[in-house]
Amino acid sequence: MKSSAPLILHVAVPAPLPRQFDYLPPEHADQATIAPGMRVRVPFGKREAVGVLLATSAHSDVPAAKLRRVSALLDEAPLIPADLLALAHWSADYYHHPIGEVVGALLPPTLRAGKSGAAGPTGMWRLTAVGTTADMNMLKRAPKQAALLRLLAQHAGGMESGALDAALAHWQAPMRALLQHGWVEIVRHVPPTPAALPVAAGLSLNAAQIAAVHKIQAALGSFQAFLLDGVTGSGKTEVYLEAMAECVRRGGQALLLVPEIGLTPQLLQRVRRRFTTAVVFHSALAAGERLAAWQAARTGRTPVVVGTRSAVFLPLKHPGLIVVDEEHDASFKQQDGFRYSARDLAVVRSARHHIPVVLGSATPSLESLHNCAQLRYAHLSLPERAGAAQHPALHLLDIRDRPMEDGLSDLLLDAMRRHLQAEGQVLLFLNRRGYAPTVMCHVCGATLQCRRCDARLTLHANRRLQCHHCGTERPLPARCEECGAGALGQYGYGTERIERALARLFPDIGIARLDRDSIRRKGKLEALLDGMQRGEYPILVGTQMLAKGHDFPRVTLVGIVDADQGMFGVDFRASERMAQLIMQVAGRAGRAERRGEVLIQTHHPEHPLLTHLVREGYASFAQALLAERRAAGLPPYAAMALLRAEAVARAVPLAFLDAARRKLAPACGRQVQLLGPAPAPMERRAGRYRAQLLLIAAQRALLQQALATALPALYALKQARRVRWSLDVDPAETF
Ligand code: ADP
Ligand code: ZN
Repeated sequence: MKSSAPLILHVAVPAPLPRQFDYLPPEHADQATIAPGMRVRVPFGKREAVGVLLATSAHSDVPAAKLRRVSALLDEAPLIPADLLALAHWSADYYHHPIGEVVGALLPPTLRAGKSGAAGPTGMWRLTAVGTTADMNMLKRAPKQAALLRLLAQHAGGMESGALDAALAHWQAPMRALLQHGWVEIVRHVPPTPAALPVAAGLSLNAAQIAAVHKIQAALGSFQAFLLDGVTGSGKTEVYLEAMAECVRRGGQALLLVPEIGLTPQLLQRVRRRFTTAVVFHSALAAGERLAAWQAARTGRTPVVVGTRSAVFLPLKHPGLIVVDEEHDASFKQQDGFRYSARDLAVVRSARHHIPVVLGSATPSLESLHNCAQLRYAHLSLPERAGAAQHPALHLLDIRDRPMEDGLSDLLLDAMRRHLQAEGQVLLFLNRRGYAPTVMCHVCGATLQCRRCDARLTLHANRRLQCHHCGTERPLPARCEECGAGALGQYGYGTERIERALARLFPDIGIARLDRDSIRRKGKLEALLDGMQRGEYPILVGTQMLAKGHDFPRVTLVGIVDADQGMFGVDFRASERMAQLIMQVAGRAGRAERRGEVLIQTHHPEHPLLTHLVREGYASFAQALLAERRAAGLPPYAAMALLRAEAVARAVPLAFLDAARRKLAPACGRQVQLLGPAPAPMERRAGRYRAQLLLIAAQRALLQQALATALPALYALKQARRVRWSLDVDPAETF
């Protein structure tokens, strides 16, 4: 039977165009089986693309004769659940980003490429009776098989692939070998509901923790946003785990978002101890592991997922609770392409699912504090450190005119000696990697610049120059390249230089360095953290990676080498970020019985922001910053969007933004301010000139409306074809 009007398929195709594309169903397809959320292969221009079916209808704006057919349906049933598709629509509208690219962000790479989306065996691997009594000596030459055997022995009920992925890398080959020995069997089973999965008992909580957990538990099954505001070491993680455990007991899945998984192996261990079947999801996983984790979340096979930013888009069969740890962390904001905030989307998503969301931090973002003040979020506080630990004491060190050794004042060095003698560990924080940030000619004063960026090159200890903006690298020249004669001097300090100075000043003491360079090789971070725990490195120097929630029980002294660096940044969030960093690093001190001390080196000991932070603490400091933001009409008291453009020629992005401004102005009226266009503070980067146009409005709805009205016209501008441009709603950085 033929129906009169053909079925029209509205498809999200990954392309930088703000619309969906219409197709006819494939020939001979049974139209009854076609449903939104399925992937389809479609002809797109001269190529083929994998898209996702958003909706079907009887109508298209495209004339019927011009419609092309979907070439293949790639799934038998919808792969993306309806709730997630709806979230994608919401995100595309809010961030004004092409729906095709937003939907693309929902899928792991293998599925985006059109590969099979089968959920994989829903089996478990389990030791056989023979396997349980296997002679480990037989596996002397096969350490991987031995490790796997031991792992399975600890999980008598068997393990799923997700749990195996999380516990052991590359377990597949040794598993095949164990299967051949007859030591392991695969048991098929019906996926258990989360409630049936094992949850280990946690610590016994203190009164503040119990109060927080009760409030979150009471909200299970309805929407409520919480800010869990607790000083470092106050036991926030235990609160998350307990709330997640209750969510799981009631049959829900819990999603825990963290800034960077690679940097927090300790947190991961704690989650796994509690939930043995927890699954991990982040972009550094191999494609197969990502797919397995995605499917485990989608089918409800795992009760708990721990993931980074992109995990906010994981499909969940039984959504029950979302937790965002270190919610102030900038890494929750995607900085290119589809520029979403995973923290903000976590709240939006929770509201749509009618489940609670917990944002936790020792240094909450001003946005979240403002949301509490507006009573949109409930404020939960953990004012004291858990267990025996006390707050560290903070002091400013006035280093004006003090004797200095490679950036370290006599005051700081004396304190270090004192703490080392008392067998404390010392942690030095400097947010700059490399050896020296500036190389300058002693004769003509020229500094060595990156040829592709408006930035200085950083000298590294291997005598190579590196641009930290575009990654360019070259050897250090023997003489100045400008005047051809002068000797080159090295100015300023990076972590490598401090490390070298410390080796000279403390020759008998173990020193470790933690920054992006030192942990580049796999396993280095774990080795370093283990060494710290064992006390092999009484001194640790590092960048902001030190601030990432590590638990170093022996650290009694934290030194902030240069507090001046961040207080005067160009971005309006510079002082908020610097204060968060200082407090987070400071929080590594005195996590156990011995009280910690934090010393902050500065040339501006009277600086009102610094003194406020040190004397009154973060909460009071944040209130002062909020008052400033309110007076200046900046977020969170205003909504912001940043239109960026870049091109190889300098005038081109400015010309595009000029034209864009003319299109935007009528829609903006007097309610939405347009600032610019202006060159970006660092105008040239990786060989391209960058410019920006800022939009600010006192009310978010007005900004959203102006963008929705005017943005489609920007795609049509002839200047748009000559630039790369993007819109950043709620930009984390305005440079
Ligand atoms: P946060 O996440 O706020 O930094 P954690 O949850 O990591 O705090 O807790 C800090 C330390 O205190 C950890 O070593 C943890 O095991 C311990 N801890 C947390 N809660 C308790 C408690 N109720 N009793 C004893 N120790 C606790
Ligand atoms: Zn560069």
